[in-house]
Amino acid sequence: MLREAAGDACLVTGARVVTVSPGDPDGARASVQCVSAGGTKNYEADLVVGADGLRSTVRNQLAPATIPHYSGKSAWRGVVADTFLVSEDFTVIWGPGTEFGAVRISADQVYWYGYTSTAEHAAWPDEKLAASDHFRGWAEPVPALIEATPPSRIMRHDVYSLAPRLRSYVHGRTVLIGDAAHAMVPTMGQGANSSLEDGACIGLLIGRAVNAGTPLAAALRHFDAERRPRTQRIARRSRHAGLLGADVSGHVAVAVRNTLMKVIPGGPAAAAGASILSWEAPP
Ligand SMILES: Cc1cc2nc3c(=O)[nH]c(=O)nc-3n(C[C@H](O)[C@H](O)[C@H](O)COP(=O)(O)OP(=O)(O)OC[C@H]3O[C@@H](n4cnc5c(N)ncnc54)[C@H](O)[C@@H]3O)c2cc1C
Repeated sequence: MLREAAGDACLVTGARVVTVSPGDPDGARASVQCVSAGGTKNYEADLVVGADGLRSTVRNQLAPATIPHYSGKSAWRGVVADTFLVSEDFTVIWGPGTEFGAVRISADQVYWYGYTSTAEHAAWPDEKLAASDHFRGWAEPVPALIEATPPSRIMRHDVYSLAPRLRSYVHGRTVLIGDAAHAMVPTMGQGANSSLEDGACIGLLIGRAVNAGTPLAAALRHFDAERRPRTQRIARRSRHAGLLGADVSGHVAVAVRNTLMKVIPGGPAAAAGASILSWEAPP
């Protein structure tokens, strides 16, 4: 659909961006240098969107003080063929320093994750065995889901977030989105979601606005004002959600947390989550 909508635009794949010069929205165009099997090429652009992820080259050049910080956690993730282990509800189970979650993603498939404290770059020769060992003795469906997942469908990734937060997502004619702008811990499951919102807003707040006559500088300011507070708030809340969940370890801390969870009314927490999930694209 995107390719079709792009019409006869030139699409370059398999190229690595190595340098970006951000340009000026009221003056010089931006320029991007790419390296591919075909060699090095320079492109000039009215707008550059840096959507190049956690270790963004674009961000490294324009805002090098903001870098990925290891969260102390990694997550095993898997997709398993299942029709009976998990209901329609999102299941989350906490243990010391660990969170396990599972959710049905189709009539016969379940996605699960095991998020736990790990040394950075740790690796096990058999990740399935390591996950099974870690979750041995947990309530079902945890061991059963891991057991039912083929080793080739289990992956594990270290988790990072960006700090300090960016003061602006816009530099000249260049705008950062997604993990490049606001990589966050996954405790609210919002990293990719908020990246998709950013993408929609590039079209709505910049592309559409400029086509309708808004100066690029004003459209970029509007984008930053709409997206930066929201995404940085979600990143902050994700960090706080971790403090109540997988970051709690030690018998006393876990017992206090569990008692608090029983007495604190669910309403305010649900309302805070709903305010994130009820996002609507700008009209
Ligand atoms: C363990 C874990 C669990 C997660 N769970 C969830 C979840 O439940 N829900 C959720 O919404 N999100 C979740 N996320 C977060 C989600 O994966 C990210 O937020 C999302 O992938 C960010 O998308 P992105 O397009 O910004 O970056 P990426 O997906 O990282 O894509 C960046 C792209 O840029 C390319 N690239 C990089 N450098 C260059 C370069 N120099 N030149 C050209 N191309 C380049 C890369 O090859 C890549 O294709 C999770 C993340 C982790 C690690």
